[in-house]
Amino acid sequence: MAQSLVIGNWKMHGSLSQNQQLIESIAEQMFELDTVKLAVCPPDIYLAQILLELDANELPIALGAQNVCAESPDSGAFTGECSAAMLADLDVSYALVGHSERRQYYAESDATVLAKFQQLIAKNISPVLCLGENLAQREAGDTLAVVKQQLCAVFDAVDIDAMQHSVIAYEPVWAIGTGKTATPAQAQEVHAFIREQIANYSPAAAEQISLLYGGSVKADNAADLFAQADIDGALVGGAALNADQFLKIAKAAESA
Ligand code: PEP
Repeated sequence: MAQSLVIGNWKMHGSLSQNQQLIESIAEQMFELDTVKLAVCPPDIYLAQILLELDANELPIALGAQNVCAESPDSGAFTGECSAAMLADLDVSYALVGHSERRQYYAESDATVLAKFQQLIAKNISPVLCLGENLAQREAGDTLAVVKQQLCAVFDAVDIDAMQHSVIAYEPVWAIGTGKTATPAQAQEVHAFIREQIANYSPAAAEQISLLYGGSVKADNAADLFAQADIDGALVGGAALNADQFLKIAKAAESA
């Protein structure tokens, strides 16, 4: 059975003082987690701060990163990059790959996404592979084909046994940061399709890999999404910057 998981993607937001406030507000409202795992992905420059803050507040929240170097898992002449080994050094458990903002603004191709995915599994960090169609692709009826291509670009090249700890996030681009959420039925259709595709590689992996939905998830729409059979949690952007919203989403996952 797939792990229920809620991951906050802080994107390029925060400061030392804002981050401290956010973690302290989360700590004030934290409840005992039974079935759900939580993670937060701050900008790399704040990973060390958040590692210490989570520890100081005894929060059962894992650390995630938003990106990783594609070229080397260790070190080298790659100015501005941060390797999987460096993330592992800071106890990072998850890292996003293929987020639509990286694909759009940094021209990340499926080949780059695959390279990043491989660097992460080499260092035992769970990649969170983000997939999703844009509005034009949805309107043209190409959603499943786009998602399949993005998925297969990675799954065709990676040993399925190494995939067991990876996570998939279906994030329709038209729903990210727009306030438009896919309906639970729209999201479920794509999630069921993704699970079916994974089952073609390995039925066991299809049951084990967590499939998260992302795209304007909020406290008031989370429960309906999590009620769907193939939605195991959420990748949350904007609402993850608000302790109350983030924990309400976590609670909805806990009661799903
Ligand atoms: C995201 O950044 O992955 C995301 C889903 O953002 P938002 O929740 O703000 O749409």
